[in-house]
Amino acid sequence: MTDGGEAPSAIDTVIAGGWVLTMNPEREIYRTGAVAIDDGIIVAVGQRTEILTRYRPRRLIDAPDAVIMPGMVNGHRHLLCCAKGAMPEGGQTLTALRRFIYPSFAALTEDDMHVHAQHAAAEMIRFGTTLFEEPGCNHLDAVLEALAASGIRARTGPWTWDQGGAAGTADLPDWLRMDAPAALRRLTDGVETVRKFGHPRIKDAVTIEGVGTCSDELTRGAAELALDAESLFVLHKSTSEREVELELAAFGHRPVEHMDEIGALNERTLLNHMTSLDDRDVAFVRDAGARISQNPTSAIKLAKGTTQTGRR
Ligand SMILES: [Zn+2]
Repeated sequence: MTDGGEAPSAIDTVIAGGWVLTMNPEREIYRTGAVAIDDGIIVAVGQRTEILTRYRPRRLIDAPDAVIMPGMVNGHRHLLCCAKGAMPEGGQTLTALRRFIYPSFAALTEDDMHVHAQHAAAEMIRFGTTLFEEPGCNHLDAVLEALAASGIRARTGPWTWDQGGAAGTADLPDWLRMDAPAALRRLTDGVETVRKFGHPRIKDAVTIEGVGTCSDELTRGAAELALDAESLFVLHKSTSEREVELELAAFGHRPVEHMDEIGALNERTLLNHMTSLDDRDVAFVRDAGARISQNPTSAIKLAKGTTQTGRR
């Protein structure tokens, strides 16, 4: 080149023209930006003119009115739960679960699960989610197949409980009944199944239900399994004031303190919902290095009172 400039490199794709929201340390936003992609990898982000000077894309996607942003992460998306709009209004967490949600989960066949996984993945991708955590599905093989074909990234494991927790067995469906050792085998098998499937976008999780449906033996065992397997221990915890009352009555501790007490709170733990907390609960989570996934649509649907009973 006689002008001293370099010839533009040929690459696969440039998306150009819209607002580009970067996640770089300066949190830069380009008003008329562009993203250069080659072989599935983002190779550059910058102003449109600069990117199109440096790169000659085989495919140019002109997106002047679009927001071009990193994929969003959904920390809690049940693949068992796709019948949106079917759930009755006015439920309380524990009764809604036992009288409507668990029975609806129990009714799903392997084919249903495959369709649910396809539908949920397509919906998330459509709205910009590229990674989600699935907190316990059934028919894991069908789910893995559907997710692999979808293009989304995920963590998942099998729906697991032993129906041995503080909330008792009243109104629980006759579905996946098992004792704690069988439940722990199901979790171990789940991790192995996902790893054997070997898809680079799909990781395993040690998924138990919580919400007063799991014994201490299962909860502790699952926490240890996630540590040993370097996986993620996922469960629903402190999901309502009623759950807190039941654990206080059964153990003399609130749910999060009880997890700490039995040695089940560690840095591989992801606690879902967490809508009924006090300051000590927050300290237990912080000290253990555990993580939280807040689920605001569920909290609103069930009018959990999070603004009164939660913590920031
Ligand atoms: Zn959930």
